[in-house]
Amino acid sequence: MLNLRLGGLLAVVLAGPMAAQQAADAVAPEATTSTGFESMSDAVSAAMAAKADGVPVMAQDWMVVAANPHAVEAGAEVLRQGGTAADAMIAVQAVLGLVEPQSSGLGGGAFLVWHDGATGEITTLDGRETAPMAATPRLFLDEEGAPLSFFDAVVGGRSVGVPGTPALLQAAHDRWGKAAWGGLFDPAISLAEQGFAVSPRLAELIAGDAGRLGRFPDTAAYFLPNGAPLAAGDMLSNQPYADVLRRIAQDGADVFYTSDIAQDIVARVKGAEGNPGVMEPVDLAIYKVKERPAVCVEYRAHEVCGMGPPSSGALTVGQTLGMLESFEIPGAADAETWRLIGDASRLAFADRERYMADIDFVPMPLKGLLSPEYLAERALLLTGDDALPEVSAGTPKFEHAMLWAPGESIEFPSTSHISIVDGYGNALSMTTTIENGFGSRLMVHGFLLNNELTDFSFRSHVDGVPVANRVEPGKRPRSSMAPTIVRKDGAPVLVLGSPGGSRIIGYVTQAIIAWIDWGMDVQQAVASPHGVNRFGPFDLEAGTPMETLGPDLELLGYEVSVTELNSGLHAISVGPDGLQGGADPRREGIALGE
Ligand code: GLU
Repeated sequence: MLNLRLGGLLAVVLAGPMAAQQAADAVAPEATTSTGFESMSDAVSAAMAAKADGVPVMAQDWMVVAANPHAVEAGAEVLRQGGTAADAMIAVQAVLGLVEPQSSGLGGGAFLVWHDGATGEITTLDGRETAPMAATPRLFLDEEGAPLSFFDAVVGGRSVGVPGTPALLQAAHDRWGKAAWGGLFDPAISLAEQGFAVSPRLAELIAGDAGRLGRFPDTAAYFLPNGAPLAAGDMLSNQPYADVLRRIAQDGADVFYTSDIAQDIVARVKGAEGNPGVMEPVDLAIYKVKERPAVCVEYRAHEVCGMGPPSSGALTVGQTLGMLESFEIPGAADAETWRLIGDASRLAFADRERYMADIDFVPMPLKGLLSPEYLAERALLLTGDDALPEVSAGTPKFEHAMLWAPGESIEFPSTSHISIVDGYGNALSMTTTIENGFGSRLMVHGFLLNNELTDFSFRSHVDGVPVANRVEPGKRPRSSMAPTIVRKDGAPVLVLGSPGGSRIIGYVTQAIIAWIDWGMDVQQAVASPHGVNRFGPFDLEAGTPMETLGPDLELLGYEVSVTELNSGLHAISVGPDGLQGGADPRREGIALGE
C-alpha cells in the first residue's frame, strides 16, 4: 500500500531503499571498448575515466557535456576563452555535425532552453524542422489511404523537413553570444579538413545501415568508400562540410536558407529516386526560429522547465511528475516505484497521443493538461495496487473544445543532447536531431538531411476524426525532445536532456526522480538502469538489474519487454560546492569543466 495525500484524501505511505542500490546498478560504460579518444588530451582521458568509474566530473566556473569528446573540447575551449553557453553550443553543434553526423547537424532541427544568469529568465527557442507548403495530410499515405511503412517513408525526400538548426545557432548567438560568430566554427572546420578518427559507435551504426546508406551516391561515397562501411579508427575528412561552415561563418546562417545551398537541398529532396519530396526554395527562405513560452511544473519544491509544443517533452515529463508529486517513490529496486512511474507515464502518454501537436495549428489544452486539479484527478488512478488494466486520455479543461483522434507516429532513437553552464551563470539545455539515425539518408554539402516529417502521425484521420499531429503545410511535427532546466528558488540546479525518441520522456523523468527523490549525483542519475513505459509494454533495460524486476511487474499486470535502452543523458548539477557533470555511459559523450 502506498502512503499518499491527495486532494484531501489520505492513503498510506511506503518507504523503500534509496540511492545506494542504484549507484551499484550502473550499466557497463561504452568507454570499456577502446574509443581512440583517450589520446586526445589529459582532460579528456580524466573525463573518460570519471565516467568509467561512475563518478561525476567536478568544476567551479563552467561545464559542458555532449555526445563526443571532440565536440566537448571545442565547447570547452570557447568557455575557457570567456564565451557564453550559447557561443560554446555553436562550436559543439558544428563539431557534432561532423563526428556524430547520424544524430544531428545542419540538416536537422533542435529545441533550446536557456536560463539567463543576469535576468533569471527562462527562454525557449524552437528550431524544429517544418513541413514544406506543398505537404498535405496525405504525405505518408499510399494511393489507398493506408499508411506507408516506416522506412518507405523515411528514406528519400518525402520525410525531409526544412532544417532549423542553422537558424537556431544564429538566433542563440544574436541573443546571447559574446564571442565573434565566425571563430566558433573554426574547430569544426579544422577537424573536417584534417580528418578525424571514425568512432566505434559511428562505425557500428554505419555497418548496421549500409543497405540504406548505399541507396544514394553521395551518401554511399562518404560512408561506404569503395563499397565497404567505414571502420572504427579510419580517418575521415569532409571538405564540403568545411566549405559550408566557412560560408556560414562568413555570411551568417542566412546563406544556408537563401543561396545555392538552399537550392541544392531542394534539388536533392525533389530528385530523391523512388521517394521524392515536395520542398521548394521558398520553404527555406521563409524558415523562422520561434520563441515559445517555457513549460514549467512544480515538483518537490523545484521548478522543472522545458520545451512546450510542438514538443510534447516538457508537457509529458511535467504531467508524469505532477501525478507522482503526491506519492513517495521508493528506490529503483522496488516494483512499486515502477508501477507508479509506469502508470503515471502511461496516463501522460495517452494525453500526449490525443492532444499534443504544433500549437500554431492545433488548439491545445496547454493549461488544462498541467492544472493541479486535473493532475490530482488523474493521480487518483494511481492509488491501486496493480497496473491499470486500461489507460485512456483524460478530459483536461479546454478553452476551445475539440475532438481529436489518437495519432500514430513511429519514433526510433538517434539524436543528441548538449548541456552547458557558463561562467556568467547562464545555463543551456538543447536537444538536437536529424530524427532517425542518418535521417533521410540524403546528403548534400557534406551533411545529412533529416527525416523529421515522419514524426507526424502517418494517419491523418481515424473514423473521420482528424488527428492533432497530422501533416499540414508549414506545420512542425510533434517531438518528444525534452531539454530541461530544473531550478530551485529561481536558480538552475540541474540541466539535462537525452536522445531516445519518445523514450526521451521516460529517461528525463527518471533522471530527475533519481536526482531529486533518490539523492543520486548526476553521474549516478544518468547511468541508472532504465524502465520505460509509454503506451504499451514495460521496457526494462537489458543487462541490468531491471531485468530481475520483470516477474514482479508481470504479476502486477504489465506486459514486459527486456530491451536495449540506449539513452544519451547529459546532465550538469549546480550546487554550493560547484558544478558536477554526468555523461551517459551508454554512449561516447563526456563532461568537461574548470
Ligand atoms: N525525432 C524525435 C523527436 O523529435 C527524436 C528522435 C530521437 O531522439 O531519437 O522527438
